[in-house]
Amino acid sequence: MEIKQIIYDVFDSLEKNNFATLGRPEDPMWERPLIGVSAGNDPYYDFLKDHIGPFHWYPREVFGLKYKNVPKAENLRVVSMVFPQTETTKKHQRKAKVFPSDNWVVSRGEWEPLMQEFSGKLVKRLEDEGLRCVSIDLQNEFKKMHSENLGLASKWSHRHSAFAAGLGTFSLSDGFISEKGKAIRISSLIIEADIMITPRGDRGPYDWCLYYQDGSCGKCIKRCPVEAISEKGHEKYTCAAYEDEAVAKYWPSHIERGDYIFGCGLCQTDIPCENKKP
Ligand code: SF4
Ligand code: SF4
Repeated sequence: MEIKQIIYDVFDSLEKNNFATLGRPEDPMWERPLIGVSAGNDPYYDFLKDHIGPFHWYPREVFGLKYKNVPKAENLRVVSMVFPQTETTKKHQRKAKVFPSDNWVVSRGEWEPLMQEFSGKLVKRLEDEGLRCVSIDLQNEFKKMHSENLGLASKWSHRHSAFAAGLGTFSLSDGFISEKGKAIRISSLIIEADIMITPRGDRGPYDWCLYYQDGSCGKCIKRCPVEAISEKGHEKYTCAAYEDEAVAKYWPSHIERGDYIFGCGLCQTDIPCENKKP
């Protein structure tokens, strides 16, 4: 069976992909992912060692976290999966001005448990097919790092691997614009299999953002309540400070805080790149 169909089957079987927390277990939290594939020896991963930092993993290094016998890089593939928010979540989020909608808070807060379920089931299914693979989201070593170049970073960039797999480009606000827009989250899987690569052609890293095309748009600048986005790009520390402040000031009493990770995400909706490549 094709990997795409396996991913869809696993996704469709998820028990956690719903808004049970908000009393709506019949409403899905995320849509089926867009899927792209890059080569394990794509020179773009050399570039990331330089651009993000030497701590950023090569696909082979990820494989070595789980397996002793690591194949040649050319025999590995990076499968990148872009999960769009649902139309209902985006509709509510468009109306949010200072604090995200309930759906947004919950879909972000429950992302990690959802990915544990999704990645765990996907890896098991592929291993049952006799394929060796590693999900980045299941690796305990996957953590935040400080990049000399970029500030906040991590050992693996899901967004960069999605770019490598031809799934879209970066944008003024740092978000990743895919064919289904920027209201998304991403996961990556490294697999030893001869899967067809999805080429990115000669696309530049910001080609799908209107601001970088012709200086127009800038709608994400206006969506940010604390001016963390400007013509110069995204100020990660201002954004992170606002997220801490927003949690302290506006967390809704009807949603349990628990160990949710919070993401404001106002700049991901009510903009021309919300749902599509603009
Ligand atoms: S809202 Fe406009 S300027 Fe901002 S990322 Fe999207 S296309 Fe680029
Ligand atoms: S996530 Fe919120 S605070 Fe951060 S840049 Fe986007 S709108 Fe601004």
